[in-house]
Amino acid sequence: MACSRYEYVKTYEQDDTILPNVWIVIRIDGKKFHKFSKTHNFEKPNDENALNVMNAAATAVMQEFRDVVLAYGQSDEYSFVFRKETAAFKRRSAKLLTYVTSLFSTSYVMQWSKWMCLPLAYAPCFDGRVVLYPSDENLRDYLSWRQADVHVNNLYNTAFWKLVLDSGLSNQKAEERLRGTFSADKNELLFQEFGINYNNLPAMYRKGTILLRKRVISDGDNDQKGRQAIVPLHEDLISSHFWKVHTEILGK
Ligand code: ATP
Ligand code: ATP
Ligand code: MG
Ligand code: MG
Ligand code: MG
Ligand code: MG
Repeated sequence: MACSRYEYVKTYEQDDTILPNVWIVIRIDGKKFHKFSKTHNFEKPNDENALNVMNAAATAVMQEFRDVVLAYGQSDEYSFVFRKETAAFKRRSAKLLTYVTSLFSTSYVMQWSKWMCLPLAYAPCFDGRVVLYPSDENLRDYLSWRQADVHVNNLYNTAFWKLVLDSGLSNQKAEERLRGTFSADKNELLFQEFGINYNNLPAMYRKGTILLRKRVISDGDNDQKGRQAIVPLHEDLISSHFWKVHTEILGK
């Protein structure tokens, strides 16, 4: 390559290689989806098809980045967990983050019309961050934190929208009614006033979506080894049961 006198500017670029032997988590989150969901008439509190768009976009990311061992999504966010030993993009942080974030965004747009009736009114965008976890315990705690977040938000939102849509309370009155209540109070309110057993609501709303790679053998497969597929689960990942069943994630 010919050298030019301008080439020195390259030396201003900073090395952002991620240290070895850590879990790399990339989390993306929709920008102002409170407004985006309003503009596109999402059903409240949970628009199933909007979640399907998120899950399909995340599946596309996992198909492209084979070193993602697990992805976890809820609301307008998704976390992608790269295996500790990944050498993808020489572990360069900006490359990993920008490829995942942009592929997720473009896939979201490509998937949109498969699930949603309204056309996109504007281009959605997603922020992204890289977080590193040195131990398996840290990684499990991270995922537990995100799943606990779904629980808290979904229980609140379910009660809030019941009060607004079924009881005709204003948003402000519904908020006042729920202020200072504990989980048990909201469960009780749903049951007493609306006959809803929270635990019977769809698991995707209560637990979020976990994407894992699994071997599946379908009827048409000649090969008894089956093929690898990306499978959505809506299970509790906080309890150790999940990690005992899906031992391939931590490799033990
Ligand atoms: P920011 O840009 O800071 O992330 P935000 O408006 O996106 O702002 P979030 O905390 O990320 O705030 O919350 C996302 C919001 O998007 C939720 O509060 C909810 O209103 C809406 N939302 C996302 N997905 C769905 C869905 N499937 N069904 C209904 N509403 C949804
Ligand atoms: P990397 O993923 O490392 O960036 P790359 O194939 O994208 O690999 P670049 O150095 O970014 O490599 O080069 C982009 C290539 O895309 C060019 O070499 C050229 O072949 C092609 N390309 C981009 N824009 C155009 C265009 N407008 N017309 C024709 N070819 C184009
Ligand atoms: Mg945010
Ligand atoms: Mg958001
Ligand atoms: Mg969010
Ligand atoms: Mg290029």
